[in-house]
Amino acid sequence: MKHPSENIREAAAHLIREIDRLVTKPVRLMEVCGTHTVAIFKAGIRHLLPPQVELVSGPGCPVCVTPHDFLDTAIAYSRRPDVILTTFGDMLRVPGSSSSLSAEKAAGADIRVVYSPLESLDIARAHPEKKVIFLAVGFETTAPTAAATVLTAEKLGLNNFYLLSAHKLVPPALRALLTDQEAKVTGFLLPGHVSAVIGIPPYHFLAEEYQVPAVIAGFEPLDILQAVWMLAQQIHSGRAAVENQYTRVVPPEGNPRARQVLAQVYETTNVAWRGLGVIPGSGLQLNPQYRSFDALTRYPIQVEKAAEPAACRCGEVLRGRVKPSDCLLFGKACIPEHPVGSCMVSVEGTCAAWYKYGTGR
Ligand code: SF4
Repeated sequence: MKHPSENIREAAAHLIREIDRLVTKPVRLMEVCGTHTVAIFKAGIRHLLPPQVELVSGPGCPVCVTPHDFLDTAIAYSRRPDVILTTFGDMLRVPGSSSSLSAEKAAGADIRVVYSPLESLDIARAHPEKKVIFLAVGFETTAPTAAATVLTAEKLGLNNFYLLSAHKLVPPALRALLTDQEAKVTGFLLPGHVSAVIGIPPYHFLAEEYQVPAVIAGFEPLDILQAVWMLAQQIHSGRAAVENQYTRVVPPEGNPRARQVLAQVYETTNVAWRGLGVIPGSGLQLNPQYRSFDALTRYPIQVEKAAEPAACRCGEVLRGRVKPSDCLLFGKACIPEHPVGSCMVSVEGTCAAWYKYGTGR
């Protein structure tokens, strides 16, 4: 009997041979999920695929697409003595225009790393004299938990908990990418976690309006190879459809309860993405019923519009226009220990992945 790893190797080799047979001209397939980016690098999938199949990373890392202004606003709040800022840890080192949250924390600001927004409520209860502001950053995967936290705060009658919201939606960003001629995307590997919330229908426009093949993919190396093979089949036969490779986790309708919580608490708005500019309907803000939990509404704060760091090409990297190694700062002035741009900060950032796992092709 064969060892299971031999079966996996054989299955991978078969898929790669089939991809090579099916794809007869150069294609660019974009993954729009930071977890996919890391999984692809870890497994060396870029090297395994035939040369006519290029994998490019898109704007799938929430830290990377959060613009400077948001960081500068968070930093301005953290400097107020009556504020406790709560955040996921990966936001700490993201450079703002002149500081970062980790620098502010070192200088004495009360900034606390949490693993769930719900922890912010315990902090708010323990410090009724302070305003506790949670940095709500992420896509459809993390937004429901932040929304549920607002509902819990309402139930508890907490009046010192707020969100500074930068939640973003993936489908409008895909639409923006397809209108970018330079990105030239042939097909999409769609994010498994986001799709587990929103389901398949929000992606239908990819095939129906743009005739671009798309496959929802899981995160194991074989999942990714199978999803690329499914894309290759569509490309070979001239079809464009939204297919689901990750059926063991993603039901066609997604997670109705999570979507209901999102719809109860938020409304969509136009927001800026680092590198992509303002994308219509791509952000979530608290709706009028829950606006009293919005930090900016309750305690407005103004920050000056800041330019992106000179020579940083993060915006082009996020659009799939250039590779990290095309940036003159890559691996020199910009490394994970001293990131210049946001794409080098998060472990899921494209530049950080290229630096850690090698530049590949
Ligand atoms: Fe920006 Fe650094 Fe990436 Fe260059 S290597 S694009 S400076 S994040």
